[in-house]
Amino acid sequence: MVIVVALACLAACGRDHGSARVRPLPKKDGSPALRGGGAPKSPRIANYKIEARLDAERHQITATETVTWTNTGTSAVDKLPFHLYLNAFKNESTLFMQSSRGMMRGARAAAGNWGWIQVDSVQLAGSELVSRLAPTGPDETVAELTLPAPVEAGATIKLDLKFTAQLPEVFARTGYKGEFHLVGQWFPKLGVRIGPPGAERWECQPLAVTTEFFADFGTYDVSITVPNTYVVAATGVLTEATEAPGGTRTLVYHAEDVHDFVWMADPYMEMISGQAKVADGTVEVRVYARPEQKEFARRHLDAAVGAIMNFSAWFVPYPWPVMSIVDPPLEAAAGAGGMEYPTLVTTSGDTVFARPGLRLPEYVTVHEVGHNWFQGMLASNEAVEAWLDEGVNEWADGKVMDEMYGARTSGIDWMGWQAQVSALRRAVVDDPASVPSPIATAAYAFVDPDAYGEATYSTTARALATLEETVGPTKFAAAMKAYAQAWAFKHPTGRDLFEALSTSLEQDLTWFFSPVWQSVGGVKLGIRTATCRLAHPARGVFGTGGSRKTVTETEAPATGSYLCELVVTNTGTIHVPIDLELKFGDGSTQRLRCEDKGHGAWERFVIERSTPLVEVWLDPDNKLALDSPVSHHYRLEGDGGAALRASAWLASLTQTLMQIVGP
Ligand SMILES: [Zn+2]
Repeated sequence: MVIVVALACLAACGRDHGSARVRPLPKKDGSPALRGGGAPKSPRIANYKIEARLDAERHQITATETVTWTNTGTSAVDKLPFHLYLNAFKNESTLFMQSSRGMMRGARAAAGNWGWIQVDSVQLAGSELVSRLAPTGPDETVAELTLPAPVEAGATIKLDLKFTAQLPEVFARTGYKGEFHLVGQWFPKLGVRIGPPGAERWECQPLAVTTEFFADFGTYDVSITVPNTYVVAATGVLTEATEAPGGTRTLVYHAEDVHDFVWMADPYMEMISGQAKVADGTVEVRVYARPEQKEFARRHLDAAVGAIMNFSAWFVPYPWPVMSIVDPPLEAAAGAGGMEYPTLVTTSGDTVFARPGLRLPEYVTVHEVGHNWFQGMLASNEAVEAWLDEGVNEWADGKVMDEMYGARTSGIDWMGWQAQVSALRRAVVDDPASVPSPIATAAYAFVDPDAYGEATYSTTARALATLEETVGPTKFAAAMKAYAQAWAFKHPTGRDLFEALSTSLEQDLTWFFSPVWQSVGGVKLGIRTATCRLAHPARGVFGTGGSRKTVTETEAPATGSYLCELVVTNTGTIHVPIDLELKFGDGSTQRLRCEDKGHGAWERFVIERSTPLVEVWLDPDNKLALDSPVSHHYRLEGDGGAALRASAWLASLTQTLMQIVGP
């Protein structure tokens, strides 16, 4: 990724855009924040009203914030924890910088250009509670506010804050590069109170390299003042746009039933738009890109439109009227690209190598748009169960790409090369059996970011694909839709997904979920024995006394048929039914199935045929995405032993799509 971006930059980075010009005042959206208006879709527990001003020279935001929080639990609350995410980029001692070693997805934190956030005032009903909200622990990304009086169950509290946010040079999902600003994780944000009634507790994890975000749904009313030369894209709909003193303008955005708010400000972006048709209306899709990335803007737009239509049809309809895709400048792509926020995502993948038909740019857009379902609406806790949005989304992305670009060509369709997205992923990512942490590991508890990435993204997607093929794609699609409909605008957990799938599929799937999510070892298929010999009636000495008789080869000649013995093994920890295809000397084939659901690690077959066994395919239809497909084809050599023939087609695939950008 680093090399690719660097080469691409030779052509386009550092381009002189001339001096910034005053941009036309943007038109108000004129549509409600939820398409067609309508009742709240979520409990709207945490609501924010923010007035922010960008100092574009210093890359600093000064703001006031009114946060309104309702205690929906059954017990009183006397402390409120706030995320202060930007403090992750304050110095080299933060948990984030320690856990990332200053690197993330190929981007390096720029020395000296640190980011931080400082809360200078917290007031309750006009009286000052604290003049400085101090971080709670050694890591400054969480601060706890002690309240003068508890918030009783069912009561609402309203606090007024003042804060200053210094953006870092863009690094891990937020910051500036030159005049480009991606303003994410930028305001004091409440944690989430979770747990069953009577046993509620706050979830407010400090920010580590592998932990993302978790927040309650609510409404956001955010006014942003920027220089009038800047183009702005933000979460929600634009409800007001007015010129302000000093060559600035103020834009007011309103969003409903979202759990975050992000905005982009840049003087050189242009916007193109299109429409995505969903069951109950249309969504305006906007792509923001600088002129030098114009050729990619159309590709991102088509991908986003297709993604919204497909995700809406398969899960729940996209409920908001607008979706914005920001394609960061190439020099900011590694830090700012490929990130999801409600109704606004950033994409990536624009390089001189991403020719039309090499679908990395499209994939990144589909993935990030898909997050508006898997985490945007199905708001799982990314710090604890990152797989529940990343991996589930990844599985769905493969389906959407197949639908949009054809199953055989969803990843590559270029110069005669063709590849499916999911096959590429399977080819370039490690065998799940080699990952030393199971999927169900908290994001912050993985041994390293690589293990986090493999288990969270790839293994989860492969596990779902394996289950899908095991129970049947049509049934599985209905079950996933039922899960999405039941849990949209809530906080589902992994257990909720498993229960929803088991209920819809009308079977206890513990035999699958338990080993796949809780254990290390994966599926490891192999052939232990594959031999054939000419069959003949039994020879030897038979009978006793006077009736003893010796049967020799002459009396018991070969029958002309072959007795073949085959032992299939699965030395992994996940036991799923395995299909086999046998090919015999006369070209005929035969299918067998090992119904292995934990009964053992091997199964023996004895087959009699008129010609010998010459080849064995394990999992010939590639249903077991959890296994590495490299050792699935065996050819019997002359000595009767099974010899491995590597599946060279996988090894030779281009690595163009290797960097499937997350998170
Ligand atoms: Zn992601």
